[in-house]
Amino acid sequence: PHLEPVRMHRVIEETLLILERSIPRMIELRKELDPNVLPILADRLQLEQVIINLVANSRDAMPPEKPGAITIRTQEISGKDGTPWVQISVSDTGAGIPREIQDRIFDPFFTTKEPGKGTGLGLSTVYGIIRGHGGTIQYTSTPGEGTTFTIRLPGRRLPL
Ligand code: ADP
Ligand code: MG
Repeated sequence: PHLEPVRMHRVIEETLLILERSIPRMIELRKELDPNVLPILADRLQLEQVIINLVANSRDAMPPEKPGAITIRTQEISGKDGTPWVQISVSDTGAGIPREIQDRIFDPFFTTKEPGKGTGLGLSTVYGIIRGHGGTIQYTSTPGEGTTFTIRLPGRRLPL
């Protein structure tokens, strides 16, 4: 990986420029990006891949008859010992993840999509990238209401 200090809100803005074309207009894309959070030491392209995969999954979870919203949020949070973390969350008002499959969604090649529509590699890739950056990923999902994926990456007091 090519590690450099990156500002998460910038990575997200840049990624959304690419992504917007693949999001139906009916879906509302909300951004709540705090530009004042600490930078992280990261591979920019890998982080773009993470955002692309999560937003694409949110898009795919929204049926055309109930388009809903995708919200991307960044904030700085403090760990138990006071260390700073950059938290990124991607929320949708989509179908949610059925309980029966919740323990399998990070498995490589696990997909509920039609052949040709999903490889099942998105979330396993995301998981590997986040762990490779010393971060964590969690999610909460309510079937019929939506899903939120939350990522935490170590904040760094680095010059940019
Ligand atoms: P793919 O998108 O190719 O199916 P992923 O690894 O990205 O593979 O996701 C695996 C599965 O997890 C999806 O097929 C879907 O069933 C479920 N999933 C992931 N994200 C969401 C989401 N935001 N809402 C509902 N289901 C999701
Ligand atoms: Mg996917």
